[in-house]
Amino acid sequence: MPMTTQDQLRQLPSVDALLQNHTVSALAQRYSHALVVEAARAALDAARQTILSGGDAPQPELLIDDLRARVERAVQPSLVPVINATGVIIHTNLGRAPLSAETIAAMNLAAQGYSNLEYDLAAGERGSRHIHAEALITRLTGAEAALVVNNNAAAVMLILAAFARGKQVILSRGQLVEIGGGFRIPEVMQQSGATLVEVGTTNRTYIADYARALTEQTALLMRVHSSNFRMIGFTHQPALEELAALAHEKNLLCVDDLGSGALLDTRAYGLAHEPMPQESLAAGADLVSFSGDKLLGAPQAGIIVGKKETIDALKKYPLTRALRVDKVTFAGLQATLLHYLKNEATKKIPIWTMIAATRESLDARATKWAARLRAAKLDAQVIDAESTIGGGSLPGETLPTRAVAIAVASPDAFATRLRAHAPPSIARIEENRVVFDPRTVLANEEDALLAGIERVGKM
Ligand SMILES: *Cc1c(COP(=O)(O)O)cnc(C)c1O
Repeated sequence: MPMTTQDQLRQLPSVDALLQNHTVSALAQRYSHALVVEAARAALDAARQTILSGGDAPQPELLIDDLRARVERAVQPSLVPVINATGVIIHTNLGRAPLSAETIAAMNLAAQGYSNLEYDLAAGERGSRHIHAEALITRLTGAEAALVVNNNAAAVMLILAAFARGKQVILSRGQLVEIGGGFRIPEVMQQSGATLVEVGTTNRTYIADYARALTEQTALLMRVHSSNFRMIGFTHQPALEELAALAHEKNLLCVDDLGSGALLDTRAYGLAHEPMPQESLAAGADLVSFSGDKLLGAPQAGIIVGKKETIDALKKYPLTRALRVDKVTFAGLQATLLHYLKNEATKKIPIWTMIAATRESLDARATKWAARLRAAKLDAQVIDAESTIGGGSLPGETLPTRAVAIAVASPDAFATRLRAHAPPSIARIEENRVVFDPRTVLANEEDALLAGIERVGKM
């Protein structure tokens, strides 16, 4: 007589009985007891579901295998390295800027032991953490002073809270941008306690619009770089010089949120010009903010440069303490900034090496990849393609590249399998082929990428 569902359910062991099993009790010794209990409950739940939907109760060994697999999955880190073959250089979802070898070494050293983070070695007394990157940043940008916070979103929030809380900030309607990840200028403004005064229209704003909006309550005039979109056609925005002149005439601050803040001129690589912090300062901006991990190519940080008096006021503002960065970030930022001072940025900073990569070098890599993949019986071809900067920098701008395209039955299924592979690789799908751009693949990742493609190709 076949067992009823109730009989099957009764056959399942209790959690306690499972924990008595020697394999399970060994797991509970090696890992957190609570984790093993949770896995036992989950394995039993899954077995119950199987029975209720008409299946058989699993054999005891299978139940324990399932429990063990659940424990082993739970102790895997969720944040893992990924190979970026998309050709999007500053890929925000993939962690933005990879770091230079020197930057990684400096971060490692800072993490390993103690440091003079807030200790003046000459005086033998308490020092300031702000000095570590400040001298380098001011030298590179020509600013009087600099302050580093957690990211550029924090930098913008801090500036608005410190100088415009309870007051008005004038901003063009063409610059009410959403950066992504929920960072929308009007909402940041509201959160900081400042009141946004919108002027002009979506496409055209003149300096006279700002002048007309000035009141006793105005604290600052702001410009936000339209990082991730481009407006073309019948458009106008006043020059930063005009904005700064108007602000200074009224004793107000002129603040420029640059977003990326390139320290090198992107025109040298056939791209449009990405505004540089040194230019904003020269144009008269009192405070300029930008990210550490976009075109700077450093760890995540927000950098504020400007007049000494203004930066000093920010350093004393209480919110600054909540947004400060740690020793590891300072060490990494310092090491990356040093590459610029040593004129070696395009040789050492990965994102700049990627931007500067020549068509010949990319073609040579793509040709080598395609040959290896063809030897593995894949239909691989070298094609002309476009890489992009990403990270909300230089929208619409592309760098011509040479990529490998492989024709497979289902490009989507192939890409999905590549993402499930260890290490996961992320590719692009174009014209029904899976495309791999060597520009964003680091030299030490090549072999793992190709081995992954070969293995998925055999599935
Ligand atoms: C990217 C960006 C930000 C946010 O910078 P994070 O470093 O990502 O916090 C703010 N403003 C502009 C204009 C940006 O492009």
